[in-house]
Amino acid sequence: MRSGRHFLQIPGPTNTPDRIQRAMHRAVIDHRGPEFAELGASVLKDLKAVFQTQNRVVIYPASGTGAWEAALVNVLAPGDQVLMYETGQFATLWKNMAAKLGFEPVFMQGDWRTGANAAAIGAQLASDTGHKIKAVCVVHNDTATGITSDIAAVRVAIDAAEHPALLMVDTISSLGSIDFRTDDWGVDVVVAGSQKGLMLPPGLSFNAISPKAWAACEAGGDRRSYWDWRDMAGPNDQGVFPYTPATTLLYGLREALDMLAEEGLEAVFARHARHAEATRQAVAAWGLEILATEASERSNSLTAVLMPDNKGADALRAEILDSFDMSLGTGLNKVADRVFRIGHLGDFNDLMLMGTLCGVEMGMMRAGVAHEKGGVQAAMAYLATHGA
Ligand code: PLP
Repeated sequence: MRSGRHFLQIPGPTNTPDRIQRAMHRAVIDHRGPEFAELGASVLKDLKAVFQTQNRVVIYPASGTGAWEAALVNVLAPGDQVLMYETGQFATLWKNMAAKLGFEPVFMQGDWRTGANAAAIGAQLASDTGHKIKAVCVVHNDTATGITSDIAAVRVAIDAAEHPALLMVDTISSLGSIDFRTDDWGVDVVVAGSQKGLMLPPGLSFNAISPKAWAACEAGGDRRSYWDWRDMAGPNDQGVFPYTPATTLLYGLREALDMLAEEGLEAVFARHARHAEATRQAVAAWGLEILATEASERSNSLTAVLMPDNKGADALRAEILDSFDMSLGTGLNKVADRVFRIGHLGDFNDLMLMGTLCGVEMGMMRAGVAHEKGGVQAAMAYLATHGA
């Protein structure tokens, strides 16, 4: 028995607000009946505002990985090339999936400390004179590295190369936390999940689909059934789904969309930016390094912090969990044990951030991690003097 609330400060799943918990505490209804159709139609319509799109959005009862697969199999045929950029572990996993499915990823290597290089993507596309590359896939906010890539710049690079590839973007840890503009940035397929900025439990994922991507789906694509966008269209137009939807999560989604609309997307983005900056101030005062080297690419939804000697992150996280009942994100793959990740996204406020940073600083003291004093103080000073 541990009293008080657990601090779930991994970069997703995030803390589910009480309002959403309560909204989901309802009986499951007939998913082909009129009451459900109203709910389905309303969430499908209102999701568009969060994606900043007029395009069709589809919802899968699946984790984010499902929506990755849906994006690939609806537009790519076996043997098609797909340009993918290594921003961290999630870009790597998406690339591995593309290869497993029989597509041909052209994986542009990154260093896990910087975001997708739009100029390099443009150059690669310009050299693809036969237009073998059918899609460019970028992770907007790679949750493993805490790096946000400039998607508008990637769009400009694709256009400048006069290349017809589709632009497909993973926004699983940015949607509803970091400004993401599907239509303004000309994103053809967006991949998103329920468990981060949308503040829901895991279990829903999404694709937003441009008319160009839809045409590619109609004209080709891989063998698919469960993920087929075409099966969604007719039922979705009536507010229902081709198979049993995750009714309970959709009640929660309705509430989440209301909460985001009440706060206003601009305010949601500003809140995340402010908490991220306060976190960065704390890390700087501790004398520690943030994994993302470029200030403009540092994520507003999480911060990946490098350990002083490049090791010991797992022991530190274990100490913090044990002593203060707080979960931090683990270092993945190339940065395993070298970084810990502080999630500061979703349903989150100043005092939750301060509790989080106190937990980190106290944990470093207990675990004997070399650091300067004053990180918490620096974050406090920032929050006290900057907006809200
Ligand atoms: N992409 C990103 C950026 C993620 O952060 C995650 C999970 O954390 C995924 C993809 C995979 O999503 P899921 O674990 O929901 O299948």
